[in-house]
Amino acid sequence: MTESFIPYSCQNISEEDVAAVTLVLREEYLTQGPRVVEFENCFAQRHEVAHAVAVSNATAGLHIACLALGVTRGSRVWTSPNSFLASANCAMYCGAVIDFVDIDPLTRNISIEQLAKKLECAAEVDQLPQVVIPVDFAGLPCDLRALRLLADRYGFKILEDASHATGAVYRGRPVGGQYADVTVFSFHAVKIVTTAEGGMVTTQDAKIAKELRLLRSHGMTRDVADLEQPADGPWTYEQHLLGFNYRLTDLQAALGLSQLQRLDSLQSRRTALADRYDQMLSSLPLILPLREADSRSAWHLYVVEVDEARTGISRQSVFNAMRNAQIGVNVHYIPIHTQPFYARMGFSKGDFPAAEHYYNRALTLPLFPSMTDEQQHRVASVLHAALTA
Ligand SMILES: *Cc1c(COP(=O)(O)O)cnc(C)c1O
Repeated sequence: MTESFIPYSCQNISEEDVAAVTLVLREEYLTQGPRVVEFENCFAQRHEVAHAVAVSNATAGLHIACLALGVTRGSRVWTSPNSFLASANCAMYCGAVIDFVDIDPLTRNISIEQLAKKLECAAEVDQLPQVVIPVDFAGLPCDLRALRLLADRYGFKILEDASHATGAVYRGRPVGGQYADVTVFSFHAVKIVTTAEGGMVTTQDAKIAKELRLLRSHGMTRDVADLEQPADGPWTYEQHLLGFNYRLTDLQAALGLSQLQRLDSLQSRRTALADRYDQMLSSLPLILPLREADSRSAWHLYVVEVDEARTGISRQSVFNAMRNAQIGVNVHYIPIHTQPFYARMGFSKGDFPAAEHYYNRALTLPLFPSMTDEQQHRVASVLHAALTA
């Protein structure tokens, strides 16, 4: 008998989720309506932040967050090369000039040390960035306090890409409400909670939140208090800036609300699986994810590093062995600066050696809340066999 395929990630849909979405189908609003407001309020409360603005996906959220933080043609924006394309693309949409800061090989997040050095050099030639986009890779929060100190010293804004980190905790509080100016979460189907496609932008700043709400819906307002011209009548709406249609639907918000009720249990299952991986793999010649004393990862991904120099066994051969055994391992991420689009801007291999070195060894193991102990055992034993072959 061939064994069933174990994906690297998988959405978690309950009967309550199905019922919540079905209910909305019978109601008045399908597009952005009262469920979106409810979802925003619930998310804001859960993440201890004043404002949450729901958007159609995290990429859209990163785009309007850049705009709300003043990114414009020629602005300088820096991010981590170890991320999904959207962390850099959002700056390109605004006509900004992108640059990268290499990662810390232990956390796999933006290196605070490299960032500090790069800022010092940039200050000397008057080329400081307007915005830095740290990414909570795999769900592990960046060192946001250190980032805040640098941001205050050099005058840049922090746009935290927390697409992996819904529910993650940094220094005793959920990410999304502290240290960063704006934080963006993703609800894509593979992420911690899902709305199929969707995202949330959080901030403590009421002015930024207002701007985000305008930008997500055509730059348009119906709020009488905000009108710049005398109202023609009760139907009046005004466009104040060039916005987009980046709205989430009530159908999606109903799913998000229902998922959010389970965030704690989804999170504790992810943590339990990560803890078990740590135990099961401790004797193998692998580098396991770092544990930080002052934060709790959301465990979106569990990434090990295969050290070919030590074992003589390549990441490619381990990857193949696992895929052949129906285990959906994956690789996160191809460093953004090595993509043809970014290479055409002058970046090349060798520019960010820590991210490239990490990428050459990285292997993402399956981890999702409905994963069974038996499935996890199978992953560990195939990995064991591949490394001792
Ligand atoms: C998934 C992801 C995004 C994009 O999220 P979407 O909701 O699919 O637009 C951005 N950044 C990171 C780090 C991601 O993992």
